[in-house]
Order: sequence, then C-alpha cells, then structure tokens
Amino acid sequence: NLPYSDGDFYAFEQLLAPAERDRLQEVRDWLAKEVRPIAVDCWTRGQFPTEIIPKLAELDVVSPVRRQGHSNLLAGMIHAEFTRADTSIATFMGVHDGLFTGSIEVLASNEQKEAWLPDIYALKKIGAFGLTEPLGGSDVAGGTRTTARREGGQWILNGAKRWIGNATFSDWVVIFARDLDDNQVKGFLVDTSLPGYTATKIENKISLRTVQNADIILDNVAVPEEYRLQGANSFKDTNKVLKVTRLAVAWQAVGQQLAAFDVARNYSLQRQQFGKPLASFQLVQQQLVQILGNAVASMGMMVQLAQLEDAGAAQDEQSALAKAFTTARMRESVALGRSILGGNGIVADYEMAKIFADAEAIYSYEGTHEINSLVVGRAITGIAAFV
Ligand code: FAD
Repeated sequence: NLPYSDGDFYAFEQLLAPAERDRLQEVRDWLAKEVRPIAVDCWTRGQFPTEIIPKLAELDVVSPVRRQGHSNLLAGMIHAEFTRADTSIATFMGVHDGLFTGSIEVLASNEQKEAWLPDIYALKKIGAFGLTEPLGGSDVAGGTRTTARREGGQWILNGAKRWIGNATFSDWVVIFARDLDDNQVKGFLVDTSLPGYTATKIENKISLRTVQNADIILDNVAVPEEYRLQGANSFKDTNKVLKVTRLAVAWQAVGQQLAAFDVARNYSLQRQQFGKPLASFQLVQQQLVQILGNAVASMGMMVQLAQLEDAGAAQDEQSALAKAFTTARMRESVALGRSILGGNGIVADYEMAKIFADAEAIYSYEGTHEINSLVVGRAITGIAAFV
C-alpha cells in the first residue's frame, strides 16, 4: 500500500480523536465485509437486502450525534464511508436515520420521543420521510397539496407523495400535509398498515436501484392526534430537518468521489494497454489526480463545515454551498472514473457504472444542485431568484 492509496491526502482523519478513528475503522471493516460484496448484485436486480437491517442494528449506527454523542465530523466521515461502499445502503441510512429519525428527534414532543425512538434507534421500526409530491418537488413548500383535516381526536389525510425512499417496506412514514384550517404544513407519523395507505415501487430507475422509492397514495387515512408531530407547525419546522440532512448528502458526494478514486485507481494499475498498466500513462495519471483533488477539496469543505456544526455555528447557506459544490465536483469525478474504465466503465459488474449512475440521484435529491446554488445566490446578493 502506498501512503496515499486511501485517498486521505491531507490526513483529515487525524482530526478525529483516537477512539473516533477506531470507530471509523470498525465501520469501514464492516462495510467491506457486509456491504461491498453484495452491492452490485442488489443494484442490478433492483432489490433491497432487508437481511442487512439486523446487522446494521448490531453495528449500532442510528443517530450518531444526538444519541451517541459523536462529533459531526465523525458522523460525516462514517456517512461518506457508507457511500464509498454503496450509495444505496448509505441512502437507506440517510432516509431512516437522517430524514425520518431526524424528524422525530427535532419535531416530536418528549413524550412521543420516549415512546417511538427506542425501536427506531434499534431498527425494529423502519422509517420513511414523505415530503415530495408529484406536483411539488423543488417548490415543495408551496407545492404541498396533501391535506390534513381535523375530525375530533384524529386527522384525515388525503393526497399523494412521490419518490419516498424505503416506503415500500417501512413500518412508519412521516407525512407532511397542509392543515385545511390554518393552511400550515404539519407533520404526522403514519403507520403504513393503516387503511387507505398504499405505496407503489417506482420501477426502472437508472440510479440508486437498490433503494426502494415509492409513490404513496393517502386516501382518507385516519391518524390519531397523538401521532401528529407536536413541533411541526409550519414549513419552517420541516426545514429544520432538511438543513441537517443536506449536510449528509454533501458527505455522500465525498464518499462517491472516494469510491470513484478507489475503483479507477485499482483498475488503472491492473489493466494493461500498449504493454503497460493504464496508470503509467500521463493522461490517465492526470485524470486520477483530478478525481483525488476534487474529493480532497470536497472533504476539506465538509471538515470545516462539520466543525462549524459542532460549534453550533453552521448556517443554511453554508450547507447549501456544500451540497452544490461537492455534487458538481462529484459529477466530474465519476465521469473521469468511468472514462478510465473504458468500455468496462458502462458494465455494472465493474462497480464504476453503479458509482457513475448513483451520482445522478445525489445531484438531484435533497434540493437540486440549482436550488442549492440559488440559496447561496440569495445569501450573497440579497436577491431571491427562485420565489
Ligand atoms: P423539479 O422541481 O421538477 O426540478 C426539475 C429541474 O428544474 C431541476 O433541474 C431543478 O433544479 C430545476 N428547477 C426547478 N425550479 C427551478 C428554479 N426556480 N430555478 C432554476 N431551476 C429550477 N423526497 C422525499 O420527500 N423523500 C424521499 O425519501 C426522497 N427520496 C428521493 C430519492 C431519489 C432517488 C430521488 C431522485 C428523489 C427523492 N426525493 C425524496 C425527492 C427529491 O428531493 C426531489 O426529486 C428534488 O427535490 C427535486 O424535485 P423534482 O424531482 O420534482 O424536480
């Protein structure tokens, strides 16, 4: 092994405490054993490996910051490592842990948290996060058409949600719906076995094929008032969750680039053309260096942002710039990686095609590249270009 073969070119991991480095290595070893060997097969078949859930529970990875007291830096690096092993499994965690568990931790009352969180942390109850709608994507605040009508001690939900990760098999889904009385967006914990709830898998995706995204229909679903998230009283509250999860997506962009670096570097050392390894050609080395530079620059941005987050000082527009910048670099990195594999770069078995295709979902979800850029544009000009 060469000193720089792991991609940590500026030794960012040395910023972690020794016990944190041990934990990162433990997760890395687990991913190498449990996730990477099955990732291409699950992706090709478009099936989620539910048998991984009890193993994830044993690894004990849900809520690293709020529950386990880890730093945001360690949590971010762990999320990047998940993505480096497989973006779909990282996204499963991003949905269950970041979006769903985050919604409960941030928006539920103390009583609700006590009742729900133990099973959620132990992955005994799997969650999903239902915000996006068929007609409400980037403009999700204005575009929430799903309604909630109060009837005595319960709420009647009607509407449709689109793209909801994990929702084909989750036990619970947080649904955001507009209260017909005060017109505000509120949050509800919906049991997916309730009458009137259906989730249909979105087929034929070319990205994150292992993740089960669903179209949800809510047809007069009756939810008791005790299942309304007591702290979700307007879209501003929903945004409190998204602010944190956007950071996790930027960490995914770091992991995605490290995965492209790993696969392209290994391939270029093994594959011979003109009697020499591809890695011996100057143009190929330049491409590898570009991927590494992109990954390291993205990592550097995230390390500083995690430290701001740990200090409680990170701002929304800083998360938005991280998401916009790292995903743009990622798109270049995975394209370079794919090109280094030549024809084999478009065959899923060589991993790079999966890495290349999965990058497209990261680029678009949790606020597209464009919308995050416009959030930063508003911050630096004082002019909102998108409302
Ligand atoms: P649109 O909003 O229709 O945008 C289309 C294009 O127009 C984009 O390029 C966008 O940037 C651009 N655009 C739109 N408005 C403007 C503007 N004002 N200025 C400039 N450009 C603009 N949602 C959930 O709630 N839960 C989930 O679990 C979930 N998981 C997802 C998983 C995957 C794989 C994907 C693809 C999506 C997921 N989403 C989820 C939804 C995701 O957040 C949305 O897809 C995303 O916000 C974009 O919305 P849209 O697809 O409707 O695109």
